[in-house]
Amino acid sequence: MSADPAVPAGRAGHVLILGGTTEARRLAEALAREPAYASSYRVTNSLAGRVGSPVLPPGETRIGGFGGVEGLAGWITAHGVTHVVDATHPFAERMSFHAAGAEALTGVPTLALRRPGWTPGPGDAWTFADDLAGAAAVLPSLGGRAFLTTGRTGLHSFAHLTGTWFLVRSVDPPQGPVPPRMETLLARGPFGLAEERELMARHRIDVLVTKDSGGEATAPKLTAAREAGIPVLVVRRPPVPRGVACAESVEAALRWLGGTRR
Ligand code: NAP
Repeated sequence: MSADPAVPAGRAGHVLILGGTTEARRLAEALAREPAYASSYRVTNSLAGRVGSPVLPPGETRIGGFGGVEGLAGWITAHGVTHVVDATHPFAERMSFHAAGAEALTGVPTLALRRPGWTPGPGDAWTFADDLAGAAAVLPSLGGRAFLTTGRTGLHSFAHLTGTWFLVRSVDPPQGPVPPRMETLLARGPFGLAEERELMARHRIDVLVTKDSGGEATAPKLTAAREAGIPVLVVRRPPVPRGVACAESVEAALRWLGGTRR
């Protein structure tokens, strides 16, 4: 990637990246790698602290919540942040609204970096649900052996389904109420097509449940499901805050950083 000429010399900026995603890490890597950005911006990566041993991006890292909108706004002001990039997961709904609220309070420009969602293609059999509870309501009509990839935190939504067997894949072990018939697979993406094919065949999966996370790292499961004729239950993304600047790629976020100087 070439240096952006819109970035002036002098390390005048401080970028706060609200992270926990591949895109957040890739943005931090690009800012550290490109001399024009590295010399212009101090970078702080913020992680929620949900994952036991996170992969830390380059730059400074802080871990844990800010304490709501006011806490985030206070942190931004106290640390001289000039740009905020909300690169949290598309399903990290609360943090995105907090970022938008902090922009309103502080006036510090904020960008929502959201990878595009997935769209079904020929041969796909997708059913959509508005949330995890909606997915749990329709799941028994689609299959009896589910590959559940929606993360460990929402498992309570499926805990009442006694007739469904679940293969649950998550980075850290599930906590709280879980379905009674369940096997857990602890793994961190990216996942390849061959391993997804093998996994689904070995466990005789007949329905895949996923959030519409988008991105390439976890997309091969969708291809494997299509190939095997397995239906996919897709949980739609939550709403995004109105009026916030948006970018769909790390490259677009870099251009925004280059062009948005205070
Ligand atoms: P959430 O519901 O939107 O956020 C809950 C609270 O966690 C926020 O109010 C905030 O606490 C804190 N928080 C969230 N992201 C943070 C960050 N990057 N830095 C500091 N504090 C943060 O978020 P979530 O769904 O629990 O997700 C937590 C993290 O996991 C996010 O960073 C997200 O990118 C990542 N992640 C989420 C998913 C998913 O499906 N939800 C999937 C993959 C990765 P305060 O109010 O105290 O500031």
